[in-house]
Amino acid sequence: MNDCLYLVIPCYNEQEVLHETAKRLLKKINSMIEQKLISDDSKILFVNDGSKDRTWDIIQELHSQNPIFSGVNLSRNKGHQNALLAGLMTAKEYADMTISLDADLQDDIEVIDKFVEEYYSGSDVVYGVRCSRKTDTFFKRTTALAFYKLMNMLGVDVMYNHADYRLMSRRALEGLSEFKEVNLFLRGIVPLIGYKFSIVEYERHERFAGESKYPLKKMLAFALDGITSFSIKPIRIITGLGFLIFFISFIALIYTLIVKVLGKTVTGWTSLTLSIWMLGGIQLLSLGVIGEYIGKIYNETKHRPRFIIADKLISNDKKDI
Ligand code: UDP
Ligand code: MG
Repeated sequence: MNDCLYLVIPCYNEQEVLHETAKRLLKKINSMIEQKLISDDSKILFVNDGSKDRTWDIIQELHSQNPIFSGVNLSRNKGHQNALLAGLMTAKEYADMTISLDADLQDDIEVIDKFVEEYYSGSDVVYGVRCSRKTDTFFKRTTALAFYKLMNMLGVDVMYNHADYRLMSRRALEGLSEFKEVNLFLRGIVPLIGYKFSIVEYERHERFAGESKYPLKKMLAFALDGITSFSIKPIRIITGLGFLIFFISFIALIYTLIVKVLGKTVTGWTSLTLSIWMLGGIQLLSLGVIGEYIGKIYNETKHRPRFIIADKLISNDKKDI
C-alpha cells in the first residue's frame, strides 16, 4: 500500500522559518517514500496566506528547485483557518490523505509515520494530541485549558489539546467540503464529519524562529468564534437570566407595595442606583451576545468566498495532462 500524501502548511510571514521547514519536511517525506509508506507523487503544499514578506518568493524558489514543493497563493490574508481550508481543498483533488501542520514545525514531524499507519488501519481522521504543554507560557496553558473546558460545557465536541495537526483522508475532506460556513472553526467541524478516527500523541516544541502569528487579540477572537459558531447556549443562558431577573423584580414589586401600604417607605437611593447599573450592565452584555450571533448570520447569508486562489504551483503528471 502506498497512497499519496500531501502535507498542507499555511504560511503567513514565515520567511525566517521556511527554508529550514522545507529542508526538514523534505527529509521526512523522502524517507517515507523510500520506505514505500507513501507514493512518490506525494507533495509538500505551502499555502501563502497573503504574506507581506518574501514567503511566496521562497515558495516559488523551492518549487523550481524541486517540484515536490508545491504552492498555493491566496489573493490576500484570510487567516489561518481559511488558509488551511484553501490548502486542504486544493490537496483533495490530488491526494489520498493530507496532514495539516504549522510552518514553524512546533508539532513534532516524527509522528507523521504514525498518522499514516493509523490511516492504513482504517482511520479517516487522525488527531495529533499534545501530551504536555511544557513549552507554553503559563498564561497560554491556563487560557487554553479554560477554553476547552468552556467548549465542552457548552456542548461543543472538540478534541482536548488538539490544534490543527491532523490527518484527513480524501473521504473526510469530501465531507469537509460540504460544510459551507464562512465562520470557520475547523476543530469544531472535523468531529462533525464523523467516520472512524484515532489519536496520536506528540510533544510540541517551541517555534525555532520568527514569532507567533497569534497574538492575544487574535487568540481571543478565535476562541469567541469557536464558541459562537458552535453553540447557542450563551443565548439560552441570557434568556434564563432574563427570566430570573424578571422573577426577582416581581418579588421586589410585591415587597415594595407591602412596604408602601405599611407606610414604611424610605428614600432608597442605594438600591435604585444599584439596580440601574446592574440591569443596564446585564442588558448591554445580553445585547452584545445576541449581536454577535446576528453578526454571524449576517456574514453567513452573504455567502462570500472563504478564500480566493491567485496562483497554484503543483506539478502533477496525472492531473495536468
Ligand atoms: N497563519 C496563517 N495566517 C494568519 C496567521 C497565521 O496562515 O493570518 C499560519 C502561520 O504561518 C503558522 C500557523 O498559521 O503556520 C500557526 O501560527 P503560529 O505558529 O504563529 O501560531 P501559534 O503556534 O503561536 O499558536
Ligand atoms: Mg506556532
